[in-house]
Amino acid sequence: MLRLLSEAGCGSVAVGDSPANGNCVGAMHKLGLTEDKLFGAHIADMSHEVSVDYPEGKTAKHFYFTREVTESDAIIGVCKMKTHMLERVTGALKNMYGLVCGFRKAVGHTTYNNAAVFARMLCDLYKATPQRLHVMDGVVAMEGNGPASGDPVQMGVILASSDPIALDSVFCRLVYLSPKLVPTNVYGALAGIGTFEESEIDVVLIDEDGSEKPVAMSELVERCGDPDFDVLREGERLNVLTLLARITGGKRKPVIDASLCARCGVCVDHCPVEGKALSFAAGRSEPPVYNYKKCIRCYCCQEVCPKKAISVK
Ligand code: SF4
Ligand code: SF4
Repeated sequence: MLRLLSEAGCGSVAVGDSPANGNCVGAMHKLGLTEDKLFGAHIADMSHEVSVDYPEGKTAKHFYFTREVTESDAIIGVCKMKTHMLERVTGALKNMYGLVCGFRKAVGHTTYNNAAVFARMLCDLYKATPQRLHVMDGVVAMEGNGPASGDPVQMGVILASSDPIALDSVFCRLVYLSPKLVPTNVYGALAGIGTFEESEIDVVLIDEDGSEKPVAMSELVERCGDPDFDVLREGERLNVLTLLARITGGKRKPVIDASLCARCGVCVDHCPVEGKALSFAAGRSEPPVYNYKKCIRCYCCQEVCPKKAISVK
């Protein structure tokens, strides 16, 4: 991407991310993006926050963006094809939550504390920033316990679109998940950001030899899709177990695998709930203990655990 922008004559390009855990320079170096491999770009300043009012917002009227965001003319989102425990998948629209400064992200989960309201906030965030293009790396995707602790799976595709909803909905189709089950698609379409309707999306396949050809969605799915992709499919069809869970108030929840837990406390530190919904109540020699009555199911703990010890059951 950086090479392409350089070849296109883009003058001032910055690359970055604002991780909830760690910092931008560390994240870029982890990706292999050291200063000598940036094609003239620089690593973005993603650690200084700027308070931005957005009175037009329907759900979110204020953001703490990283400074680089407020100084950019255009933003290109480069996301990974991954599963996500809150929104089922994380793609083009969800990826842009990375524009919010570091720890503010966890705090945002308490304000926008369920999948629907979080998706609506992301729609406001999209409109408040100059997003131009979205590219999804699905060469190797992540299935299962995403967005941080899942398993790699070969999908062999790179998707690109100026419409993040269309892009994310093609991702859904490739993994045989109805785009309507993903809140960011539903609310993104309602907000007028894009479309997930198959009849409104033109798919152009760029083959390995560089040739371009329009294809039907069904052909793309047949060629590149994976029906066995492990993604949250709850709600696809009602069965006895899901009905029983609804009747008894059964709810998904984060669970720690004690055999993997290093007792590091990163999950506790990142729990955004006032007074914490998990703690070392049983002492530091045991894994943290959840208070599920307080837990808002934001899954920040699962996302930041460096040992992949937390899954959602
Ligand atoms: S972040 Fe993971 S490894 Fe660290 S205490 Fe929490 S569950 Fe254990
Ligand atoms: S315990 Fe985990 S899922 Fe529950 S509120 Fe805290 S960070 Fe979110």
